Amino acid sequence: MARPYYKTRYAPSPTGPLHLGHARTALITWLRARAAGGRIVMRVEDLDAPRVRPGAADAILRDHEWLGLDWDEGPIFQSAQNERYAAALEALTHMHRVYPCTCSRREIALVATAPHGDTGPVYPGTCRQGPSHPERTAAIRFRMPEPTPTVYDRVRGMYDAPRPPGDFVIRRADGQWSYQFAVVVDDAEMGITEVIRGDDLLSSTPWQLALYEALAVPAPSFAHVPLVLGPDGKRLAKRAGAPPISALRDAGWPPAQVWELLAGSLGLPHCRTLDEMIDHFSLETMPRAPYLHATATEPGASD
Ligand code: GLU
Repeated sequence: MARPYYKTRYAPSPTGPLHLGHARTALITWLRARAAGGRIVMRVEDLDAPRVRPGAADAILRDHEWLGLDWDEGPIFQSAQNERYAAALEALTHMHRVYPCTCSRREIALVATAPHGDTGPVYPGTCRQGPSHPERTAAIRFRMPEPTPTVYDRVRGMYDAPRPPGDFVIRRADGQWSYQFAVVVDDAEMGITEVIRGDDLLSSTPWQLALYEALAVPAPSFAHVPLVLGPDGKRLAKRAGAPPISALRDAGWPPAQVWELLAGSLGLPHCRTLDEMIDHFSLETMPRAPYLHATATEPGASD
C-alpha cells in the first residue's frame, strides 16, 4: 500500500555541538522532505543523561534555525517519552520477545567470541533460559530472530550483518532505555517513513528492523549517508579540534557559505538558496565516499 505521505526527522544527540557532518545529514534530510512535500520532526535524543551537555540541545536547535533547516513538528525530547517506551516494552514482554539479563559487561566481553565491531561484543545469549545471577538487578534484552533481517538501504543497497548481531539491550539495569529501542519506538510512533542518518548506524539497522517486525509496525525506508571526515580521516564529531557550526558563524560565515560548502560536498552546483538545491539533489547520485573536510574557519575559506 502506498504511504500517505513522506515524513522524516532530525535526531540530534545533545552530547556536543553541531558539526558540519551533522549539518550535512540534516541538509539531506531537509532536501528529501521538501522535495517530497513531506514533514520533518525535530527529535532531541537526550536519553544518555551522563553524556548530555547542558545547553547543547538549545544550541543545536539554534544552529538548525540559523542554517534555515526548519522542521514541522517538535522539538520532542526522548527524555520525556518514558511512558511510550514502557508501553512498547510491555507489549514485547507479553509476546515473549524479551528476557531479563543479569550479565555484567565484563562477563559478556569475556564470553563473547566474535571480534568486537562497532556495535560492541555479540551477546552470547547466556540469560536466554533464565538470569545467570538472579540476585542482581536485571537489564532487559530483545531476543533476536533468525535469520537476521537484511537491510535494504537507499544509499548503500543490500546490507547483511557480517554475523548474527546477538540479543540487544532494551532497558539497562539502571533503568536507562537503549538507543536501539527508543529510536524504533519513536520512529514508529511518529509515523516516520524515511530515516536519514550517518552510515555509522547502518550496522544497528538489522536490530532495529527486528524490533519493527516484533512491534508489527511497518519499517521506514533507510538512507545511510556517508560521514564527513577531518583531514586525519577521523569523524568530525569525534575530533577534538573540528569547528562546530557555531564557530563558523562566529568567524563571520553567513549561512549561504555553509550551504555552499555542503552543496559542493554533495556534488551540487552553486545554488543561491536552499530551495534551489531541491531540484539538483538526489540520493541516487550523491557521492558514496566519505567527504573529507579540510578544517577552515576563515570567512571565504570554504575550501
Ligand atoms: N542521535 C543519533 C546521532 O546523533 C542519530 C540516531 C538516528 O538517526 O537513528 O547520531
